[in-house]
Amino acid sequence: FTASINSKTRPIKAPRYSLNPTMQPLETANKKFPSLFFQCADLLLPWLSPLDLASSSLTCKFLHQISKQITISRSLDASQNLETHPIPFINNTPDSEPYSYFVYTPCQILQLSNPSQQWGCFNSSIYLKQTVSSLLTIEDGFGCDCEGICSGDECVCCRLKPEFDSEFGFEYEVMSECGERCVCDLSCRNRLTQNGVSVRLRVVKDGRKGWGLHAGEFIRQGEFVCEYAGELLTTAEARCRQQKYDELAASGKCPSALLVVREHLPSGKACLRVNIDATKVGNIARFINHACDGGNLLTVLVRNSGMLFPRLCFFTSRDVLEGEELVFSYGDVRLSPNGLRCYCGSSYCFGFLPSENT
Ligand SMILES: [Zn+2]
Ligand SMILES: [Zn+2]
Ligand SMILES: [Zn+2]
Ligand SMILES: [Zn+2]
Repeated sequence: FTASINSKTRPIKAPRYSLNPTMQPLETANKKFPSLFFQCADLLLPWLSPLDLASSSLTCKFLHQISKQITISRSLDASQNLETHPIPFINNTPDSEPYSYFVYTPCQILQLSNPSQQWGCFNSSIYLKQTVSSLLTIEDGFGCDCEGICSGDECVCCRLKPEFDSEFGFEYEVMSECGERCVCDLSCRNRLTQNGVSVRLRVVKDGRKGWGLHAGEFIRQGEFVCEYAGELLTTAEARCRQQKYDELAASGKCPSALLVVREHLPSGKACLRVNIDATKVGNIARFINHACDGGNLLTVLVRNSGMLFPRLCFFTSRDVLEGEELVFSYGDVRLSPNGLRCYCGSSYCFGFLPSENT
């Protein structure tokens, strides 16, 4: 197999909100600042991290106003306008941190050397999305050439069709969906998990657990919530990063979101390992907290036809009410008895988060 990057992008949507109108009077009021300065600030500030944004806002009233608007815009949508509905941050804890800063990608991407992205800008035309939509595909990989709807025995991609059973969950742990080389488009019924997040969600902060993903509406059992998106890493890079994250965690900083997926191949003799790091670059799945009792989400590996790596997708294992936190089990292995504390609150709680050697 050879892997190549394919930059099939999703259609660019118009922004859902505009922050510009409130800025107009300010621009005319600040006659000493030429409009060019305004435009530059408008372009540059959305690239800044919260820390740099805070320092620049101390420079003058003008930059303070822009920084404030950017902060509001960021807290309104964790998905940075890349999903169907905005996913707001809600923080009622005393720290009042308005949002969690990261680079958003709706799908798996290759490791980025210097991840950065504009977030919270006013001008939609400069909203950059190209960097976040690469798919890893197998060269000359197969696809179906269904003339009608992809379904049943007719379509080669539908061999593993997801059938949800309310008692046992999905009948397979691995599913296949149509992919890059299939003739069908994204509206194909066998591409259930490829259109991003369609349920309403919120990112809510808890004093002990930190940020967590909550249902923003009633979600039926068996519904697709999201995939776990982030940077795909080599195992060497994953081990190196995990070591750094563990050091930072020991000093109480930087919660990491590095996930190792192991797919046991049909022969039973080999195992495909996929390392997905959503710590700096990822989607809202990076906020999903652990629950010792398994929670209300279950995971399924989904492989698009012609795609090298499977994707880890989350489905609801039962009906979820609006406002409920979405949680799943990170695993059963607890190597360190002094691992990070677990605050899942379930009656089966082990007291510590699962941890294993990466
Ligand atoms: Zn088909
Ligand atoms: Zn199809
Ligand atoms: Zn297909
Ligand atoms: Zn627990």
